Amino acid sequence: MATNRTFTMIKPDAVEKGHIGGILSMITEAGFRIVALKLTQLTKADAEAFYAVHSARPFFGELVEFMTRGPIVAAILEKENAVEEFRTLIGATNPADAAEGTIRKKYATSVGENAVHGSDSDENAAIESAFHFAGREQF
Ligand code: UDP
Repeated sequence: MATNRTFTMIKPDAVEKGHIGGILSMITEAGFRIVALKLTQLTKADAEAFYAVHSARPFFGELVEFMTRGPIVAAILEKENAVEEFRTLIGATNPADAAEGTIRKKYATSVGENAVHGSDSDENAAIESAFHFAGREQF
C-alpha cells in the first residue's frame, strides 16, 4: 500500500534563480501539505551519500558538484499516494520531455539542472526524509 508522504528538494539552480516561492506555490496548489521544511546546503559527503545509487553513472561527479554549489530547500510533503502524485507534478527528468503544467517544464533548464527532486518509492521517501529531518522537525 502506498504511504502518504514523499520527500523533495528544490535544487540549487532553482534556489539561485529565486524560484522557491513559485515552486512551493505549485506544490501547495496541487494539494500537498508541507510536513517539514528547511533551507540547507549539502556537503560533498551528503550529496555522494544521497545519490549513491548513481555513483557508477558518468554524470555522478557533475551531479555532486551541482547539488553542493549552493543552498537547497528540503521538504517532506503529505498527500494521498504522495510519491506517485508528486512524480507526476514534477514531470520527466529531462525538461524537454516534461509535460505542460509540471514543475520541471516551468523551472528546469536541463536534464542535470532540473529544479526539483522527488523520491521514487515509499522506501526511498522514508530514507531521504530521515536523512534530512529529525522526527521532531516533522509536523
Ligand atoms: N541526472 C543528470 N544526468 C542524467 C540523468 C540524471 O545529471 O543523464 C541528474 C538529474 O539531476 C536527476 C538526478 O541525476 O534529477 C537523478 O537522476 P534520476 O534518473 O533518478 O532522475 P529523477 O528521479 O530525479 O527524475
